[in-house]
Amino acid sequence: MLEKLKQSELHVHIGGCLHVQGLVHVARDFYREIDWTQYCKNYQQVFGQAVDPIAWFERAIDHNDIEPLKQGYVVTEADAGDFARFQARFDLLIYVARYLRKVTGNQKLMLDRIFARHRQQGLRYVEYRAMSSIATTYETFRAFHSEYALACLQACDSQMQIRYIASLPRDNVVQTYGWLKQLLDEQPCLKNIIVGIDFCFWEEGYPPGSMKAFFQQLRKDNAANPKHGLAVVYHVGESFFDKSLESAIRWCHQAAIMGAKRLGHAIALGMPPEIAIARRDDAMSLNR
Ligand SMILES: [Zn+2]
Repeated sequence: MLEKLKQSELHVHIGGCLHVQGLVHVARDFYREIDWTQYCKNYQQVFGQAVDPIAWFERAIDHNDIEPLKQGYVVTEADAGDFARFQARFDLLIYVARYLRKVTGNQKLMLDRIFARHRQQGLRYVEYRAMSSIATTYETFRAFHSEYALACLQACDSQMQIRYIASLPRDNVVQTYGWLKQLLDEQPCLKNIIVGIDFCFWEEGYPPGSMKAFFQQLRKDNAANPKHGLAVVYHVGESFFDKSLESAIRWCHQAAIMGAKRLGHAIALGMPPEIAIARRDDAMSLNR
């Protein structure tokens, strides 16, 4: 049983699978061309530190020193439970991935690297998830998710089974769920690959109760089409500086009751109250 678990990976975000060397490999030809202004601004705001990602890549490529890049990019113990710190680091990958798409029209360079690494690690079953914050029309939504899902389909073989979960934006779930169904109708070959829907990114302001219409529709659709029903995996209780620990726990329960198959992170469920109230001065000031 333990062996089987070691061969499965059920919660990875595609971008988050790119390790430091992979990032260098993907960005080496264009890292200087990326406009890092906003990235640096946000990083400074979150960490109070001025940074220069171009210099990080230069150290890694010209001097074989990945340390500065690693220190900027890798999430550490000190970042635990602070979504803004995580996101400020993860943005490095987002900037690279977006530019990669701009110069090559696809994400193949990144995806090949990720699949090869997981294969090498002995994984036999992986569920990848991804979200695009710039997929604001059906065409861009379809281009983004069908590229990833098709890449997952093509990378499947007798050694490794791959599935894809589309992460939908919490503020536009009903429309994007409709887009996902349209995509599956237009590309039926993806019906066995796309197995679920995820919600990730900032959760503040989006209580599970606001997803009611979506869950109702999904239940109906799954009952009508049980063979290709979609499961919901739901990031919740991960980022909750805007409310008390009790409220964050309540959100986890609500997501589970509404029908989420797996909860993502849900650190609220295991956080001792004394840690929760010590994290920020105003950590207990609001209850929503
Ligand atoms: Zn996650």
